[in-house]
Amino acid sequence: MRKYASAMVQGGLRLTPQRRQVYEVLMDKMDHPTATEVFIRSQKRMPSISLATVYNCLETMVGSGLVKAVHVDREPTRFCANLQEHGHFHCTECGHISDIEFSETRGKGWKLPPGFLVTQHDVTLRGLCANCGTPSKTSNHSNANHSNAKPSTK
Ligand SMILES: [Zn+2]
Ligand SMILES: [Zn+2]
Repeated sequence: MRKYASAMVQGGLRLTPQRRQVYEVLMDKMDHPTATEVFIRSQKRMPSISLATVYNCLETMVGSGLVKAVHVDREPTRFCANLQEHGHFHCTECGHISDIEFSETRGKGWKLPPGFLVTQHDVTLRGLCANCGTPSKTSNHSNANHSNAKPSTK
């Protein structure tokens, strides 16, 4: 409930009513809205808020790591308040962006040159979501169960 408050404090931000409003909008529906969409939603609850303020709040929160900016080619930046380490899956057909759990810890799984340190990662996968993929080929469970056939305990 008061998650945003502690998250703000952790991010070293002053909890202004506008920031709270913008953050609440992002937490409310994790559908990666654009700044304009955040503005429209914020305005419903706080009619005095301006688009410039919303931009400002978003920029500040991205800067402090409270919110992720998601860049998808040729589209306006979208915003994500999911604080879990995650990547994004962009469906090129319907444009939907889903949060994808990322099991590797930062930088692991990439062949980094010696001395390089990952402080943040921003991974966007592209492809087709379940709704847009070919429905006739859904019987492919290749990665459903990866365990070795059967443990021969006897
Ligand atoms: Zn799709
Ligand atoms: Zn996300």
